Amino acid sequence: MLSLSSQAWINLAYLAASMLFIVAFKLMTSPRTAVRGNYLGATGMAIAIIAACFEKPVLESITANGTWPLILLGIAAVIGAAIGTTMALKYPMTGMPQMVAILNGFGGAASTLVAGAELFNMNVAATSADATLAATAATNLVPWTQFAIATALTGLIGAVTFWGSLVAFAKLEELAAFKKAWTHPSRHMINLGLAITTVILIWAVCSYPNQTLLYWLLVIVGSCLGCTLTMPIGGADMPVVICLLNSYSGLAAAAAGFVIDNSVLVIAGSLVGASGLILTAIMCKAMNRSLVGVLFGGLGTTASTTTDDSIYAGKIKSVSAEEIAMVLEGASRVVIVPGYGLAVAQAQHAVRELANALEKRGTTVEYAIHPVAGRMPGHMNVLLAEADIPYEKLREMDDINPTFPETDVAIVIGANDVVNPAARTDPKCPIAGMPILDVDKARTVVVVKRSLSPGFAGIPNPLFAADNTLMYFADGKKAILDLTAALEKG
Ligand code: NDP
Repeated sequence: MLSLSSQAWINLAYLAASMLFIVAFKLMTSPRTAVRGNYLGATGMAIAIIAACFEKPVLESITANGTWPLILLGIAAVIGAAIGTTMALKYPMTGMPQMVAILNGFGGAASTLVAGAELFNMNVAATSADATLAATAATNLVPWTQFAIATALTGLIGAVTFWGSLVAFAKLEELAAFKKAWTHPSRHMINLGLAITTVILIWAVCSYPNQTLLYWLLVIVGSCLGCTLTMPIGGADMPVVICLLNSYSGLAAAAAGFVIDNSVLVIAGSLVGASGLILTAIMCKAMNRSLVGVLFGGLGTTASTTTDDSIYAGKIKSVSAEEIAMVLEGASRVVIVPGYGLAVAQAQHAVRELANALEKRGTTVEYAIHPVAGRMPGHMNVLLAEADIPYEKLREMDDINPTFPETDVAIVIGANDVVNPAARTDPKCPIAGMPILDVDKARTVVVVKRSLSPGFAGIPNPLFAADNTLMYFADGKKAILDLTAALEKG
């Protein structure tokens, strides 16, 4: 019978975990299979963690220190699991970007600490009078140049990710101090100065790795860079930033994998890094932004000169459920446009009932999905899939936009920025240039929301004052239930 060394078993477990990660990514591309993908990914991670506990340095530490390393590992795992579970249970779907932001940050911080600890270990071993300890450390170390470069990169990317993610979290939570984007003209010079300093410090860490202090200096400068790069970004550009930070956290983990010579960390980190970059590119395209523009231009932060009064005064037509039902009775094609407010109101099942009632009358119903509607990529797809709305009826922006002129009624439920025509007409507004759903071209537009409050980008919406728009002010779920009842009565 074939006998394998313990390292071979560990490598096999890592291979199995990596394969599970890849299959999990594939399954996560569709709402139908995403839950299964999540479970597979978590199983892969559990396998990787258990296998890592059998790595040579861990076993040596247990031999030298008794059960203490295991107890510490157990305590860390319980604390981590408790934080993860509490956050997952506490945060509503609408708070997902904040949660993703903070988890990205944790990933970056963990990578930075692992690289720092490994550098510290190496220096202790190198200066140790204990020949056995020094020899053991030397045999455990990965080739020198790889170690030095990977350590410096892990420290930098991890620190940028952690602090950038904390700032992104504060912005998404709409904390008062972070609501206003930092747009001081000196920011470009500050960023340039910090970037040059990081390059010098990376060189210094690689040249003098025995000076652990240089590593922590690099981490401090990287932390400042993480803050100053994220603080100017705001408004509708936040989805791009979250995807980018997600990618950074993967790159930091991959670099940490090279530091400790752990293949599953390199593979998992690369997968997250690459998928985050792909998502960033998709988001940039959806927002009609260049990555350089988002990172350095401070887009999404300019102040528009238009005010609520100049747009809305005397032009808002507020209607009741019965009046909208009368309009819907004569409609042969209706397009439903979901947005963040639909998720807040949890109106997805009510929307399905309205669609059923319309379809029973012979009306064609479709759904228009904007790539950044809601608060996370794919938010609306997940929400509507929850209510078993057939996937074929969900149409992407580019696909559905040409059909709006032939649409009798567009019902906008809790969407605002993604249907705001100011993106086309006001070059100074924070969403200028962002492609929108052309609902204003439908014959009649019904907008369901609670008030004239702005959306995430914080700007008024001329759509609400358009001649063909009817405003229905109510909570999304209650409004749709009342509308369905009125339609069925009539
Ligand atoms: P918006 O944030 O533009 O607007 C949401 C609207 O929903 C608000 O105007 C609000 O108006 C209304 N609303 C809130 N609660 C309810 C409720 N209970 N019932 C009815 N209406 C409600 O949403 P969009 O989806 O149009 O746009 C998404 C925005 O979020 C974009 O700017 C995007 O860049 C940004 N973003 C997107 C991310 C992503 O990955 N998709 C991540 C981070 C940000 P009122 O209070 O009057 O009811």
